[in-house]
Amino acid sequence: MSSRTSFASLHSYSALPLRDRANVTSLQTLVGNTPLVRLQRIPPNPNVELYAKAEWFNPAGSVKDRPALNMVLEGIRSGELTEEKILIDATSGNTGIAYAMIGATLGFRVQLAVPENISPLRRRILEAYGAELFFTSPLEGTDGAQDFVKRVVNKNPTKYFYPDQYNNPANWQAHYHTTAEEIHHQVGKPITHFVAGLGTTGTFVGIARRLKELHPYITCVAVEPDAPLHGLEGLKHLPTSCVPGIFDARLADLTLRISTDESYAMVERLAREEGLLVGNSSGAACAAALRIASLLEQGVIVSVFPDGGARYLNG
Ligand code: PMP
Repeated sequence: MSSRTSFASLHSYSALPLRDRANVTSLQTLVGNTPLVRLQRIPPNPNVELYAKAEWFNPAGSVKDRPALNMVLEGIRSGELTEEKILIDATSGNTGIAYAMIGATLGFRVQLAVPENISPLRRRILEAYGAELFFTSPLEGTDGAQDFVKRVVNKNPTKYFYPDQYNNPANWQAHYHTTAEEIHHQVGKPITHFVAGLGTTGTFVGIARRLKELHPYITCVAVEPDAPLHGLEGLKHLPTSCVPGIFDARLADLTLRISTDESYAMVERLAREEGLLVGNSSGAACAAALRIASLLEQGVIVSVFPDGGARYLNG
């Protein structure tokens, strides 16, 4: 390709309407199709297989790349997201990082409301992608961030595209159509248990809904922190939070509540015994999966590990 042609094609990308840009980027080939890892040393019984979906392999580093991309594409398809609009949402971090990455690729502004206590590293990552941040009270968590966004959008509705990940079906549908199908094909045998943490609940709802269709005897286990104040970024203590509109409690055959200490201890074990450096919500999911494993003589348990641990090392 001559330098003239490559300049012309670069130039023409920015000139394309958002809808066409979404069709020509590589985003859809980069997001998803993550590895499924079998845990070898932590499971107590070799007849109980324990698998983890390694979601930190997504391009912006977490499970949230999938729903963020799907909500943006749905917004573009429906005409709600155009190049003049600013994407705004409330996020504890990973969804925001995903929006920021997608906004940078496709060329629209991203503004995020985040609780003031997000880790400095997450803040630096968001700012590196060019996202604009509003800080809300750490005492109000993501609920406070959501209220803030609703107030801003209500004042000026035509200026913003508000995906509202807590109430947007494109969130759980991303997992129904991609993550669950990948798990089904990667495991290749009947799955007895599915275990995942609850934040917006999109991961749990989308995967459980599809796996229940594909594996009629599966038990789906939802995982949440055992207390309202906890150190499990990304997870919600539902009894004391606003329940997301997309949550469907009927999909949870069992709910396990895991403490921050137990999750952190499991994060350390995963790094040292399995070579998997994962985030704290992965520790919670694994601790819950292990509780199930210890009750079984045989079984095939699948969990989702939402993000990697490097993001948590610098506080
Ligand atoms: N773990 C982490 C680290 C997350 O960022 C999130 C997203 N909030 C979750 C778990 C929960 O995923 P979901 O929002 O799909 O319930």
